[in-house]
Amino acid sequence: MNVNYLPKKFLGCESSFEDADFIIFGAPFDGTTTFRPGTRFAPQTMRIESIGLETYSPYFDLDIEDYNVNDNGDLDLPFGATQSALDIIQEQAKKIFDSNKKPLMIGGEHLVSLPVIKEAFNKYPDLHIIHFDAHTDLREEYLGEKLSHSSVFKRVWDFIGDNKIYQFGIRSGTKEEFYWAKEGHVYINKFNFDTLKEIVNSLNGKPVYFSIDLDVLDPSIMSGTGTTEAGGVSFNELINAIKEVSTLNIIGADIVELSPHYDHSGVSTAVACKILREMLCAMITNN
Ligand code: MN
Ligand code: MN
Repeated sequence: MNVNYLPKKFLGCESSFEDADFIIFGAPFDGTTTFRPGTRFAPQTMRIESIGLETYSPYFDLDIEDYNVNDNGDLDLPFGATQSALDIIQEQAKKIFDSNKKPLMIGGEHLVSLPVIKEAFNKYPDLHIIHFDAHTDLREEYLGEKLSHSSVFKRVWDFIGDNKIYQFGIRSGTKEEFYWAKEGHVYINKFNFDTLKEIVNSLNGKPVYFSIDLDVLDPSIMSGTGTTEAGGVSFNELINAIKEVSTLNIIGADIVELSPHYDHSGVSTAVACKILREMLCAMITNN
């Protein structure tokens, strides 16, 4: 294959940074991954595979080519230097929010959400979080490290506080995490999206950051991730949930934890690309 034919931008995201309302960028960092690493390859692999998608979404009846979206490429992140990597991501997020644009980040492991949510909170003090994941990600620390993809929403809670984080699809975590959340700190809807509608109604008009860890999907459709967890949601359930969230004021979003090389069929990457397109549509539709 002639590499000149490989897309350098995610499908249909050709606007300049200045013209764009939405900025896609990659944060290819997997330095704190607890099990199988490889998410650093996600953004570039998704760009290449996105050529198999259409720019038109039949789910939203919307063509992303009709909107101003910039794919800003990948950040250069120093592997093994967690804090420096997070600082670089935060700088990028600040630049985007300061320009009154909305970020849609491709991870990377889930820890990369932390600096973007920090900047979102700086801009929107009434920020609320919608988080889809198989895992609670509420550990206080992992092997003594407070900065871990398994503790990312505990670190978010440190500054955002109680009743701001809403998790769905959760089916794995320590007993301590589930019990701590239940004390009124973090809302957890286990296994599915049963109470999503009710929560979305309660967040109407508020600024919302939307984070999707792809392992919320069942491993039968998303084997390309570091920590697969059986019993996940189906693709159609996830699309319907994204449509539900699209009625909210989404000020930023991310899609994380695709680890493309664990699925040699390429299906996981193709699924991730489609989810990214629908997340973009969700942000566009209520902009
Ligand atoms: Mn996660
Ligand atoms: Mn997860």
